[in-house]
Amino acid sequence: TDSLVQKLTLPTGKTIEVNTGLFINNEFVESVEGKRFETINPATEKVICKVAEATAKDIDRAVDAATEAFEKVWRHFDGKERGRLLYELAELIESNKEELAEFEALDNGKAYTIALSQDLAACIDTIRYYAGWADKIHGKVIETSHDRFCYTRHEPIGVVGQIIPWNYPLVMLAWKLGPALACGNTVVLKPAEQTPLSALKVASLIKIAGFPPGVINIVPGFGSTAGAAIARHMKIGKVAFTGSTATGRRILKDAAETNLKKVTLELGGKSPNIILEDADLDQAVKWAYYGIYTNHGQCCCAGSRVYVQDSIYDKFVQKYKEFAQSMKIGDPFNHDTFQGPQISKTQFDRIMSYIETGKKEGATCFMGGKRHGDQGYYIEQTIFTDVNENMKIMQEEIFGPVVAIAKFKTVEEAIEKGNLTRYGLAAAIFTKDVTRAFKLSNALKAGTVWVNCYNIVDSNTPFGGYKESGHGRENGKYALENYTEVKTVQVNL
Ligand code: NAD
Repeated sequence: TDSLVQKLTLPTGKTIEVNTGLFINNEFVESVEGKRFETINPATEKVICKVAEATAKDIDRAVDAATEAFEKVWRHFDGKERGRLLYELAELIESNKEELAEFEALDNGKAYTIALSQDLAACIDTIRYYAGWADKIHGKVIETSHDRFCYTRHEPIGVVGQIIPWNYPLVMLAWKLGPALACGNTVVLKPAEQTPLSALKVASLIKIAGFPPGVINIVPGFGSTAGAAIARHMKIGKVAFTGSTATGRRILKDAAETNLKKVTLELGGKSPNIILEDADLDQAVKWAYYGIYTNHGQCCCAGSRVYVQDSIYDKFVQKYKEFAQSMKIGDPFNHDTFQGPQISKTQFDRIMSYIETGKKEGATCFMGGKRHGDQGYYIEQTIFTDVNENMKIMQEEIFGPVVAIAKFKTVEEAIEKGNLTRYGLAAAIFTKDVTRAFKLSNALKAGTVWVNCYNIVDSNTPFGGYKESGHGRENGKYALENYTEVKTVQVNL
């Protein structure tokens, strides 16, 4: 209905439009209970607009639509047709990329230029990558005995629930939708309550692309209501989640208590970044800086613990501070902004309380540590030194622009300290010695190890965590395993 269409004026003066209804069966609708919630601009702390709020009844509606679409339509599409629709969606996102980047800047607070050059590029690339897979998913013939013929089929699971976070709204949407649709599943996707707008804009493009009704349903709402209804739904065969370890644990429990739906989880991290004394210092400073401060520290793979060999420690810390001081914090719509506000008041308070804890624990706040400005959820780039592994700020995910820089003497000590965490999403090593680079990357317990770089993630390379950082891998061919059931057919000849 018309009342769901919102016109929004950007700080640049431009007006953009979005339908704020729940996207079910290719229509934008009000929630059953008529509920709406506010989404906030983190740069101004003001309400952007209200969005329809899904509750359990709406999740039922979306699941019914997805079930019907799966049984009657989507499972009968061949891979080439699914691929063609995914390519069409990628084209539409590309031709609307400036506006989508504006939604990200407005709703999430990330810098517009970065959203455009990085988030939108990754989103489009991922959907194209999985469009290419749609007609290449097949089983095997397995030789058993002469009087039998055995083959496998990789069949879609059916209706898939997807719950995504607010830190990369469109990248996470693409990581989830791409492989699920390529494999032939239908989807009920819940964006994070903090950032529903870009996903709703994509919903209107999904309809234009020509996806049959019910194949993709997008239902903004809160975690404890809409999210839990997805995790506990008896007709959802699989749930894919990205977010905090605490919520991941909750979802696993919900799945276990209901229909034992399959679960993949991409959770938090406390990734170590190890700088050896033979590293190219300027390169190490630059990558270690981007390793933590990218996306205002709101990155699951953030290199939040930097370990520097003692002989180069003082020089490193000084150069790191100078590099940090050269980067601009400010309005997401300014073209030279690197760091915008944190996502919400909750996250702002949480990060500030970690900064206080760090000080109380005896760490030195070497730079930053305060609120930036007096409006918006901005936090100064913060560096802690004189830290040890027992401190909370060295063990818990802060998810903000806060780094801890520690010293080590030997490579063995760096490995031991690097692995001293319950997480295992990522790690990095800086060295010119190729043998050490290989040995260290083998020794670190992490799903991704970067050597002389950080945050390099491609649509065709697997991503996911060891230990409490998750279950399963996203991206690349590996993600297809998350969205298929393998059927073995034994034929007696
Ligand atoms: P969260 O994990 O609670 O939220 C992520 C998503 O899960 C949202 O869509 C939310 O609505 C949903 N959700 C919440 N509770 C749910 C439930 N019981 N059942 C089903 N879905 C549920 O994260 P948050 O509260 O926004 O942030 C808290 C912390 O989580 C952050 O400080 C950070 O450490 C971590 N986090 C990690 C990532 C990541 O990419 N790994 C992303 C966001 C937040």
